[in-house]
Amino acid sequence: MQAARGGGCACGHVRYRVKGEPIYTNNCHCRLCQQQTGSTGVVNAFYESDRIEVLQGRLSEHMMVSGSGGPHLICRCRECGTALWSIYPRLGRLGIGLRVGTLDEPGALTPDAVIFTESAMPWVTFPEGIPQFERTYDFRTLLPAERIDRMLALMGRRESFGA
Ligand SMILES: [Zn+2]
Ligand SMILES: [Zn+2]
Repeated sequence: MQAARGGGCACGHVRYRVKGEPIYTNNCHCRLCQQQTGSTGVVNAFYESDRIEVLQGRLSEHMMVSGSGGPHLICRCRECGTALWSIYPRLGRLGIGLRVGTLDEPGALTPDAVIFTESAMPWVTFPEGIPQFERTYDFRTLLPAERIDRMLALMGRRESFGA
């Protein structure tokens, strides 16, 4: 039942596997995502860190600020620089935001929300049927109960670390 998905960087140096479904997936149009990707934005799938396994290759970490203001580390392929995922130090490194475009089958995940529409490029159209937010949203109001529980468990584990 815990299907695994494979992915990797553009040069093939890094390969990874991620288990199960994400807690949530966002299509983010914030300015920082635009700058970091050089594109309209990014699609990130949020997982517990222990669901991702690096199968081969070495990463480099780059400290950045996210659109909601907190610090995050972008993990890139050390060889080609492809950004693979972000780690959130304020979650005690327990959660990662995987860049969905690095999956072998990026179309397999549909975003739960489109966020930071306020800074979207003006010609971008948003998909029907996916909730849209000018900035962020409260996950408790949007996600199914099982995924809210996973998020709360993650936050509880962080607190037990004293982070
Ligand atoms: Zn690479
Ligand atoms: Zn963003």
